[in-house]
Amino acid sequence: MQTQDLKVNAIAVRAVPYGESDMIVTLVGVDTGRVTATARGCLKRGAKLRYAAEPFNFGDYVLAGRNGRYIITECSQIDSFSGITADIDAYYAGCLILEALSKLSGEPSPETFMCALRALKALAYDNADANCALRDFLLGAICSEGNSLDFANCNSCRCKLTDAAYFSDSDGIVCQSCATTGVIPIDGDVRAFLAGEREDIPKVIKLRANILLLELVHNMIGIHISADYLTEQL
Ligand SMILES: [Zn+2]
Repeated sequence: MQTQDLKVNAIAVRAVPYGESDMIVTLVGVDTGRVTATARGCLKRGAKLRYAAEPFNFGDYVLAGRNGRYIITECSQIDSFSGITADIDAYYAGCLILEALSKLSGEPSPETFMCALRALKALAYDNADANCALRDFLLGAICSEGNSLDFANCNSCRCKLTDAAYFSDSDGIVCQSCATTGVIPIDGDVRAFLAGEREDIPKVIKLRANILLLELVHNMIGIHISADYLTEQL
């Protein structure tokens, strides 16, 4: 049977060695969602497509194969986001973004893909605060999946939130008077950071805010993304 080339504009999110010198690469394509492909011989010295199997590589990939079994035959690199590996906080945030992008891309999700590209650019080139970039990505991804979270106003009575708030599946983010039982409490500093009202706060609060966002992704979208990269910095 004839094989057909598949062209994918994609980010490499994961790569594991396979056999003597191959790598199995997980790609997330803007139009295809998650695709797995083999980079043959890419662990050999001087392998031409080594970069195509590096996590964070963004490019136009050409895959040969069919029925979900593909081999990477070409890759025209658009960006390597190499600056991310120069800073440990940026690297942790970047790894978490790749993991989240992969898990959220079982079906193609172009908006989540664009949120990830924006965050990776901010981390690699704009010297962005790692936890701000991660927050923006997670809020964007939650929104792309059809949920919206407003940390500035109560979702029930519409009052302006000034301090702590509460989250529930049914009501979203609400004020203290509107909170019912079984809600997740959100302290005032964390809420202000997530609302974009305050960024000049200790790193530990930003980390707690992003850990909370991962919990909300699990609650609302049903996808578990490990918070280990964040909890180990607490
Ligand atoms: Zn309220």
